Amino acid sequence: RIAYVNGQYVPVSKAMVHIEDRGYQFADGIYEVCTVVNGRYWDMEGHLARLDRSLRELQMDAPMDHAALRVVMKEVVRRNRLKNALVYMQVTRGVAPRNHAFPPEGTPPSLVITARRFNLNRGDALAESGVSVISHPDIRWGRVDIKTVGLLPNALAKQAASEAGAYEAFLVRDGYVTECSSSNAWIVDESGALVTHPKGNTILGGITRQTAIACAEELQIKVIERPFTLEEAKAAPEAFLTSATSFVTPVTAIDGVRIGSGKPGPVARRLREAYKARAARG
Ligand code: PMP
Repeated sequence: RIAYVNGQYVPVSKAMVHIEDRGYQFADGIYEVCTVVNGRYWDMEGHLARLDRSLRELQMDAPMDHAALRVVMKEVVRRNRLKNALVYMQVTRGVAPRNHAFPPEGTPPSLVITARRFNLNRGDALAESGVSVISHPDIRWGRVDIKTVGLLPNALAKQAASEAGAYEAFLVRDGYVTECSSSNAWIVDESGALVTHPKGNTILGGITRQTAIACAEELQIKVIERPFTLEEAKAAPEAFLTSATSFVTPVTAIDGVRIGSGKPGPVARRLREAYKARAARG
């Protein structure tokens, strides 16, 4: 596997960052995860727009402009000879002697891009069976709308899910489900409408969430952006989650409580199909 690290393409085993990188010392960095489906980047515009937003919110310099970034993103995938890929891109505030305040102006940001195989079939199998989730307290900071590499609470939640034999964790703040550890959370209400937490400082605005809303509109399925409680989710006819890597994945159990029939529901299925069709169109 080949990675891009600050201007060079190197084998992943030789790819290194400095011990005084601010990403390493302060989690002072942001990232994006996007996919290449059948040789084409999917939702790239959205991911680059969110990258810019994260940089702006943290007053961080961009490592290069979009045109150059697109070239490097394509080159990493090409060098790894991948047709379907998961691409990870991280920007940090660069290298400087440890000090909480920002380094001097002009300190170059660090940029790392890696790619690995994206197994589309695995996602399909999970979507066929549906996944179970646990609920977990949302103990994250007040700006989770910024996609920072400070993911310790997310990692703890995912680990708890994993130990419980579950796929994801529904994060709960004040009784309401905000999102999951690495995906957005949705339910279907009694009328068949989709319900998901509104954007704001308490969720990450998923690119897949946005595209799923567009797919729902195409299918003439109503989308209501409002908070929903854990109890409401457990009693809902359907639940599902969205992310760049899992697309639309039906949730069939929450804390061991069966959702609907305990099988993936029709609304989530339709939405997943519509989403996949869109991704295939590119
Ligand atoms: N919420 C969190 C906390 C995430 O880490 C992710 C995945 N990056 C998402 C939601 C889903 O976002 P996207 O659809 O852009 O992958």
